[in-house]
Amino acid sequence: MAGSTFPKGGVHPEEHKELTEHLAIEEMPAPGQVVLPLSMHFGAAAKPVVKKKQQVQEGEVLAIVEKALGASIHSSVTGVVKSIEPRPHPTMVRCDAVVIERDPSAPARQYETEDWRKLSREQLLARVKEAGLVGLGGAGFPTHVKLSPPPTAKVDTLILNGAECEPYLTTDHRIMLEYPGKIVQGAKIILKILGIKQCILGIELNKPDAINVMNKAVQESFGDEDLNVRVQGMEVKYPQGSEKQLIYSLTNRAVPGGGLPFDVGVIVQNISTTLAVFEAAIMSKPLYEKVVTFSGRAINRPANLKVKVGTLLSDVVNYLGGTRDLLKIVSGGPMMGFAISDLEVPIVKATSGVLFLNSKETDVGEYGPCIHCGGCMEACPMGLSPMEVGIYVEAGKGHLTEKYGVFECFECGCCGYVCPARRPLVQFARLAKIQIKKHG
Ligand code: SF4
Ligand code: SF4
Repeated sequence: MAGSTFPKGGVHPEEHKELTEHLAIEEMPAPGQVVLPLSMHFGAAAKPVVKKKQQVQEGEVLAIVEKALGASIHSSVTGVVKSIEPRPHPTMVRCDAVVIERDPSAPARQYETEDWRKLSREQLLARVKEAGLVGLGGAGFPTHVKLSPPPTAKVDTLILNGAECEPYLTTDHRIMLEYPGKIVQGAKIILKILGIKQCILGIELNKPDAINVMNKAVQESFGDEDLNVRVQGMEVKYPQGSEKQLIYSLTNRAVPGGGLPFDVGVIVQNISTTLAVFEAAIMSKPLYEKVVTFSGRAINRPANLKVKVGTLLSDVVNYLGGTRDLLKIVSGGPMMGFAISDLEVPIVKATSGVLFLNSKETDVGEYGPCIHCGGCMEACPMGLSPMEVGIYVEAGKGHLTEKYGVFECFECGCCGYVCPARRPLVQFARLAKIQIKKHG
């Protein structure tokens, strides 16, 4: 079966998914302490509504964002607020966080379920907001805002992103295999919130079991409804799961430069987020636990773990039997993720995976001058000229690179991946953006 794909560039990195793709989701026991940063979403930091020494329940609101873009933060355990203080953060170095000492005698919170069909779209959207949902694919954009496009946008299609094109990561794959009915229900809930009828679930062809399971779940669930929901296989090519490439692959619609998916009538949701929408709608369950892939050849026991948000990486490493020959830790996938140097960082809402890589999995070589092979231009899915940007940045002229479309660069890493001179082309692009902004 030939899958759909995007027209320009893309690469085929080694997948490494065999380390975890066959491992069922496992629930990690709650740790003794959780650290919940006040910034783990796109937008303003949340303000605490609890104080030191206060008793809190699992699922209780700890911090809120008023009158700004953001999302509430909830306790992932029952216990006592030990402190509110700066703690290591996976992307911000340090950030204020609510530290909670878990009460080991407290039972896990139970939720009652109810029929989401009895709720209006406004009530469903309110539940998504109250649950503190954010995009779980990496950016952490508040979901209730994404599901409220401006009235001028003519949205007609929901895309569920089941590409999971980053090497190593298998979270969405496992969720589709293990909770297919919940994903279909979650899609229906989002369709109701958006007031539309069409949903396309895009899955890369390297997950034939997920394609089969999801097709079956769609057929069983949608038999007698006036909804058009379908599963579409996509070619295995990185970055198939990035928004613009995904939208083109599934609808042939091109998001204009500087535009957003709703400009072409599309809203994209990630698989993990869709599961969280389902739980928020039927149980009013806040987002405080999630499935994360822990992989790489330097962790003793790779796994797909359901963990409490706020669990420290050091607790996860202990639970998974420690590391061996560890050279690098990456939060996210190896193409777009970022290095972590401190095991005391917590799992946050947007953590999709953490990789523990050994020397064979890590490129540590020096980089050299550009040999003008053109490989990076061929690989760029946005049709940019990464080599020019790199040469300008090295010459101290990064502020002159706007003409090369550097703001269209979404830092997918394809250019750096193919570069025979190992040039850090993504870092050059980041620097160029900073220098352009500095120059106004
Ligand atoms: S990182 Fe930027 S420049 Fe490089 S391939 Fe991706 S979009 Fe193109
Ligand atoms: S791939 Fe590397 S060496 Fe080749 S043109 Fe691009 S920057 Fe230069």
